[in-house]
Amino acid sequence: MRGMTLLMVAAWLLVSACGGASTPVEHGGAGHGAVHWAYTGEGAPEHWGELSEEFATCGTGQAQSPIDIVGAAGTDLPALVFHYQPAPLSLINNGHAIEQEFPEGSTLESSGRTYTLKQFHVHGPSEHTLNGQSFPMEMHFVHRAEDGSLAVVGLWIREGAENAALEGFFANMPTAEARTAEPEGLTLDPATILPADRTYARYSGSLTTPPCTEGVAWHMLQQPIEASAEQLARFAALYSGTNRPVQPLHERALELDNTP
Ligand SMILES: [Zn+2]
Repeated sequence: MRGMTLLMVAAWLLVSACGGASTPVEHGGAGHGAVHWAYTGEGAPEHWGELSEEFATCGTGQAQSPIDIVGAAGTDLPALVFHYQPAPLSLINNGHAIEQEFPEGSTLESSGRTYTLKQFHVHGPSEHTLNGQSFPMEMHFVHRAEDGSLAVVGLWIREGAENAALEGFFANMPTAEARTAEPEGLTLDPATILPADRTYARYSGSLTTPPCTEGVAWHMLQQPIEASAEQLARFAALYSGTNRPVQPLHERALELDNTP
């Protein structure tokens, strides 16, 4: 039963990709599968908008992600409040990224709204840049509100000390063939992954993978976390170049929290 559920989740994630929690691309299998988006070749990011009508926003959207976090206007943003709970280690390799799935119980409060943590996944190198600087990896904590709207908390990972909170993740990442990993007895506490400094920049953006749906509330934590060179290399051996290039800001506001 559990295996069956996981398979279904994996199949669903395969079509819903980066913002896995969203529903815009959740439709019947008929007709799907003809389009293969990727990070290189014919399915590369510059072609995403032409691969399918459903992906048109990737090419025409004016509020796309990721972006370069630069020149943010300083302001007092409300603190992000994390109510994160430990969860069983439950990893999926969806063909584009490695994801950790979360059961109900972990939530995020942002600007008076409550979102439920659905999953996190990782990109390498980073998708968002900081004043033009790239990082070896970027984590996306994907949350969904009751009305379906999405909030993502993004976290840069730089090379440094070994990351104990993420060691179970790095040590058990499934290959694309294995698809899933649920090692018995291992848990992961998302609260311990977050940096002490929760200063963030926010803007309204999109999923960074097709269908590039907009209306995603982005929160980029400004203090990178660290992982060892060995941990980063383990991920790079599975995935590299899984970052969409930065997109134009256009008319959007980019706000940086000034609150001490
Ligand atoms: Zn992502």
